[in-house]
Amino acid sequence: VNENFRKHSPAGTVYLVGAGPGDPDLLTLKAAKVLAKADIVFHDELVAQGVLAMANPAAQIVNVGKRAGMPSTGQDQINRLLADAAFSHPVVVRLKGGDPFIFGRGGEELDYLQARGVPVEIVPGITAALGCAAQAGLPLTFRNEATRLTLLTAHRAEDALAFDYAGLAAKDNTLAIYMGKETAARVAAGLIAAGRSPETPVAVIVNGTLPDERWLTGTLAGLGSVAARAGSGPALIVIGEVIRHSTPWREALDGSSHSSNAA
Ligand code: SAH
Repeated sequence: VNENFRKHSPAGTVYLVGAGPGDPDLLTLKAAKVLAKADIVFHDELVAQGVLAMANPAAQIVNVGKRAGMPSTGQDQINRLLADAAFSHPVVVRLKGGDPFIFGRGGEELDYLQARGVPVEIVPGITAALGCAAQAGLPLTFRNEATRLTLLTAHRAEDALAFDYAGLAAKDNTLAIYMGKETAARVAAGLIAAGRSPETPVAVIVNGTLPDERWLTGTLAGLGSVAARAGSGPALIVIGEVIRHSTPWREALDGSSHSSNAA
């Protein structure tokens, strides 16, 4: 094949597909259909085995995520892998945990591929906050009580410092923090300093929607210690009055164990 021709006319389409939070039943039908006809699948570490099992058995499966102690494939390298694959594979699937456009770097991949004339389609997924909340009967908004929901990330201390704490401190704002385990104590202190009540309920959800899902609850004042006890696995932090409606909160109250989380 003429090299120039290859450069300008990719044979395939790259599908940026949301794999959902873990439970394969939370995949969209569209994602399942695309996976079933995939020629090659590039997936993140977070994508559950049960979701990968839904891929075309003949598809090549490539893990581009972090492996125990190993650095993850760089974003530049992933971008190139995707673009290259589109020249030799009709259906290229880029599978990401949750939704590709929520803290998933889907936007960067889309920009890169579009700039090179590679056709891209986006298949949305259920983001971690929605999956985790559904699992525990936690309404993220509630009439009068919670009139907004903010999805945010705090995976670096510098980000935590740059936080718009004042904007996040309102009582009716439910916060769902991605990648926030390490900076939890600092974020809690910032929110309290900005006027959010130290008694605000918090939850840390680990491995949400998976068989080994864990919930820890407490109050904002104790968020740092709650997060520190969360252990390994992807963890989502939810802060807001609505947590009082959730099953884990009610159970913790019944067992009067939640106060011990609020150290
Ligand atoms: N695109 C993904 C988020 C990627 S960032 C989405 O839309 O959900 C990775 C972070 O997502 C994790 O650090 C964690 O905060 C959160 N996360 C993803 N899956 C999760 C799960 N099953 N349970 C709890 N948190 C999860």
